[in-house]
Order: sequence, then C-alpha cells, then structure tokens
Amino acid sequence: MREFISVEEARRIILEQISTLSVERIPLAEAQGRRLAEAIVSRDNIPPFPNAAMDGYAVRLADVQQVPAALRVIADVGAGQLPPETVPPGSCIRIMTGAPVPAWAEAVVPVEWTELGSDGTVRILQVPTASANIRPPGQDVRAGERFFEAGQRITPPAVAMLATLGVAEVPVYRQPRVAIVTTGDELIDASQPLTPGHIRDSAGPGLSAQARWVGAEVMLQRRVPDDRGLIEQALEQALEADVLVFSGGVSVGLYDLVRQVLDARGTQWLFWKVRQRPGKPMAFGLLEGKPVFGLPGNPVSSAICFDQYVAPALRRMQGQQEVLRPRFSAILEAPTPKKAGLHFFTRGVARPGADGRLYVRDTGPQGSNLYHSMVRANSLIHLPEALEEAPAGLEVQIEWLPWTIEP
Ligand code: AMP
Ligand code: MG
Repeated sequence: MREFISVEEARRIILEQISTLSVERIPLAEAQGRRLAEAIVSRDNIPPFPNAAMDGYAVRLADVQQVPAALRVIADVGAGQLPPETVPPGSCIRIMTGAPVPAWAEAVVPVEWTELGSDGTVRILQVPTASANIRPPGQDVRAGERFFEAGQRITPPAVAMLATLGVAEVPVYRQPRVAIVTTGDELIDASQPLTPGHIRDSAGPGLSAQARWVGAEVMLQRRVPDDRGLIEQALEQALEADVLVFSGGVSVGLYDLVRQVLDARGTQWLFWKVRQRPGKPMAFGLLEGKPVFGLPGNPVSSAICFDQYVAPALRRMQGQQEVLRPRFSAILEAPTPKKAGLHFFTRGVARPGADGRLYVRDTGPQGSNLYHSMVRANSLIHLPEALEEAPAGLEVQIEWLPWTIEP
C-alpha cells in the first residue's frame, strides 16, 4: 500500500481501477442526465420530407414570373395533411408551416407577400426565389449520419433530439449503486434532539446527496457506532453496492475501526493518506473487486474527498470520459492560509471582476469541521503542494463546485 501520496497520484490510482458499468435500455422519459452507452445513427432524414418554413402559398415559379400574379387556390394543406400531387397551371395551394411541400411546388410565397381575393384566387405580389421557404429533407440530419457519440450526456435538448430520431428506448450505462456508511459513537440522527457528547450525522445525508448529484443511486445509507460487529454487519450490506463509501474511523484514533474491519474482510488497500488538506487520512482500496473509499469523518473533509475522488469514479462508471472539472484562473482577493507540502482545497467565493477576470476569496476559517466554509462556497481554490504561501493578488486555479451551476 502506498502512503501519503499526492493528489494526482491518488486520483490516478483510483481511476485506474474504474471502468464503465454495463449497458441498459431505458425509456426516453427517464433518460435525462444519463450518458449514452452507444453512438446513435439516424435512420431517417430530418426533416423527413420537404416542408413549408412559413405559412403561405406553394407555387410553381413559371406562374409567378410577372407580379402581381393571380393564382387559383385549389387546396388548403395544414401540417400533418398531404398536398395534391398535381395541380393545373396557374394554380397553387395554401400551405401552413410544417406541411409537406409537393414535388411540383418550387417555392413557398409567404402570406405577407400576398392578397387573398374573394373569388378563390390569391394575388402574389413579389417573385420568390427558387426553393424559398422550403425546408429540404435531411437539412438538419441526414439518414445514416452518426448524430450522438457514446458517452454524451443526455441533456434536455438531447432528449428532444432522441425523440426526433425515434429513440424511445435509450442505451445508457447503468447507474452505480453506492453504499454510504457513517461511523461514530457520537452520531445521532437529524431527527433526534441534541444530547451531551453527541452531534448529528451530517456526512451520511451529505454524501448521499453528493452521490445522487452525480447520478448514482444510493442503495444504502447507514449510520453505525464504533463497534466492530456493527461495522462488519454494515459492510456485508454495503457489499451489495458497486461502490462502498465509509466515513469516519479511518484515522489513527483508538476507535478508528473501519480500516481494521475492512482489513480483516480482505480489502486490498491501494493507498492511505493523501498530501492534502482537508482529507489527509483518506484511504482507498478494493474489496471483492469493488472500490472502497475510507473518508475522514469531518464533514468538510468527507465532502471534499467525495467531490474530488468518489464523484469522478462515479462519473467514469456512467460513461463520462473527462471526469475532472475544468479549472479557471482567478486572482486571490485576500491572503489565505497555505503551507508547503499539502495540496489545499480552499473553499472559495469567486466572482467576475469589472475587468472581466475572475476574483476569488476564501470563505473564512477553513477548519475541516466548519460547515460554513463549505456551504458558503461556490468554488474550490487549488493551492498546489509546493506553494508556500498564498498572498493577495496571487493567480490561482479554481473550479466551480458542481452545485454552483444547476446540474
Ligand atoms: P473521525 O474521522 O471518525 O475521527 O471523525 C473526525 C471528526 O468528524 C470528529 O469530530 C467526528 O465527531 C466528526 N464526524 C465523524 N463522522 C461524522 C458524521 N457522519 N457527521 C458529522 N461529523 C462527523
Ligand atoms: Mg470517529
């Protein structure tokens, strides 16, 4: 087992162990937010047939060379109706947006260029160009075109497009099932009144929420005291999941039993401790081939470790290729604590300045027990290991927290 490794090594070791889950087909109505497991090739031309781009009159060009031209209106064709296949010279059809344009028609004259007569004729006032206001078949997508690649996220516009392409059952990667086990004798439920020596379990609900945020299914969220037997029991339940996340009990305290229980059950640890703050005592291993994360109990540490390590793994399992968020340069508005030797994930508030650049400051005291530092943040400031201090004016790299912008 590697010990006290860099953030980059930790991420590499984790992602090396992670591959996409199996493929399932789900109804389009449930596919939003998932990732395509296969490329999607269009069977059809989109649009499938030539159709009118405007309400107006479908005409032959020869009939409208001299304007005004009076043409006989021999049919009204709305979207969803079929136009007459032939019409005599000097006549036209009234056509609505989206209605099929017949083969004989060479342009659609918009209604604004016409005057309707009382005798079943229409006066065309301007000469249209060839193909004017006719949407050709395949203008958007050609039959046989590969429109989506595997791994693409199914956004709301993608949902509309999949419907257009007739993909009612969507091939997606299965959602990872995650088990979250929080440990600590001091922990009580959110519904319980505070009693001496106790605090409410925040990591359980918080980590579950983070797991759901990245599209995973929380199969189990369980809180257990620092009791070997109960941790063992929770572990057996957790092994039903694809990913096991423990919070608390991974450090070197007298009651830090999680590592011991996982050891005894045969976990192959790949690393313990990362050169980072918060979250130094984090551990990662494999048990029955499944990734096991031992996160520190402090709520900010567990949230950051989840965000930086567990979430990328969950994204990869669902088919996302680029699992790390983009980073942006920002200017530190005020000095923030830093020491060399640890990568700091400082919680920040970033905002664009009048000069178009991003500015960022920390959220105040950064203790890993201080919720406010996390809750008030919209971003994480990366202060790399080698950096000795972080004075005002320093250019830093930030990433937006996932919930800063809606999913
Ligand atoms: P541990 O990692 O178990 O040593 O816990 C470190 C600190 O985090 C202690 O102050 C714990 O009380 C606190 N803590 C542990 N687990 C949780 C949790 N699930 N929710 C809130 N605080 C926790
Ligand atoms: Mg503990």
